[in-house]
Amino acid sequence: MFKIDKLIEMPKKEAFNWIDENKERIIEISDAIWEYAEVGLQEFKSSKLQAEEMEKYGFKVDMGVAEMPTAFVATWGEGKPVIGYLGEYDALPGLSQKAVHHKEPLEEGRPGHGCGHNLLGTTLLAAALATQAAMKKHGIKGTLKYFGCPAEETLVGKAFMARDGVFAGLDAAIAWHGGQSNVASLGSSNAMNSMKFHFHGRTAHAAGDPWHGISAVDAVQLMNTGVETLREHVIPDARIHYVIEDGGHEPNVVPAYARSWYYVRAPEREMVDMLYDRILKIADAADMMAGTTHEVELLTAIYNLLPNRVLVDLVTSNLREIGPPAYTAEELEWAKQLAKSIPREQKIGGLKMSKRPGWEELIDVDIDTTTPDPWNEGEVMGGSTEVADVSWITPTVFFTTASSVLGSPGHSWQITAAAGMSIGHKGMLYAAKAAAGVTLDLLTHPELIPKAKEEFDKMRGGKAYKCALPPDLKPPLTQLKPM
Ligand SMILES: [Zn+2]
Repeated sequence: MFKIDKLIEMPKKEAFNWIDENKERIIEISDAIWEYAEVGLQEFKSSKLQAEEMEKYGFKVDMGVAEMPTAFVATWGEGKPVIGYLGEYDALPGLSQKAVHHKEPLEEGRPGHGCGHNLLGTTLLAAALATQAAMKKHGIKGTLKYFGCPAEETLVGKAFMARDGVFAGLDAAIAWHGGQSNVASLGSSNAMNSMKFHFHGRTAHAAGDPWHGISAVDAVQLMNTGVETLREHVIPDARIHYVIEDGGHEPNVVPAYARSWYYVRAPEREMVDMLYDRILKIADAADMMAGTTHEVELLTAIYNLLPNRVLVDLVTSNLREIGPPAYTAEELEWAKQLAKSIPREQKIGGLKMSKRPGWEELIDVDIDTTTPDPWNEGEVMGGSTEVADVSWITPTVFFTTASSVLGSPGHSWQITAAAGMSIGHKGMLYAAKAAAGVTLDLLTHPELIPKAKEEFDKMRGGKAYKCALPPDLKPPLTQLKPM
């Protein structure tokens, strides 16, 4: 592992103190966003709150970048290096939940922060401000850019920002996500396309004169059948999944319109392109069989994540130097109570699947307070993230800290609950310090960024980033409805 002498140096102490001194305000911002619980591309109040906070500290805010009203860039400082923070704030539909250890919605059916994104942006906003405080005091040169990235959940925000060059000129980028362990990731994520197929036929009475009808749902079904046969001939790591969003309304009306929504994922961008082409051909074939027409609506197209060992080692060193938070007896009891809602076999299954060495020791642990070595080198997680697109533009690190009860399912009320109380807050403040520490290491040890870039070039393997979104595609601003 790459080591830095005298890890905790004066500017870093300064930054950590800034976070301790300002923690009430940081928590206030996170809790406000938790309560707003705005879904992707509708995060008007959340993005405004963050942008105004950055402006108070002299960051120059550029609001509404990449044709998304809730995307912004806040910049402070001058010259090189330029360090970016990738912050998010979107909530998930239907996951409203009070900050209590049993299931109880704040408002039934409303969105909630079931992935803890209220903590995400706030953590990195705090890291940027703490770094700024240390830079000012010690006359450290460099530029900080906080990116307010909307719609992470639908994998939209950073892809469109990347296409529009918003991340150009960065020397490194830091992404953090609330999680259940304190660790930086050496793994990758799947590249992915998200697209809808709109089929059009002709309606008729389904019993009176069905021969006059052309069923759009027939085309949807034929297309799905075609894709199911394709499944046998794709690499095992590929993922193709779909829902039928509109399959007609009553059996006695031949549906003139039907719609499916597909995700296609694979460990490399080119593999997704190949599968996407095959699926488009299957949709054309469905038209021929059913007599329909259709159009494809591509919603987003993203890359696979490139880890960066140099930055991962820096995060690990900082997480260890700072040390994980201590929890009060009340917090531990709260976690224990919440843990009762998680089936034991599900928790064990999750730990086992993580392939973390020694995972058996965590079966009866509710909050992880260790800082393990990253263990997932070469692994590709099933899911996807548009942090990946940034990782093809500049050396990028993705890390987590324990911010929810161990074993909590992803996108769940259990995560909404923890993200709105002190366990989530502690994970956030810990991560904010680590991100500030990493930034100050990069700013004060000039040899680090060239090393990270060397690693970045190696990981890209000579391939350049070419955004997978068509140049004229607009962000899907109304994909999710505000509630
Ligand atoms: Zn998330």
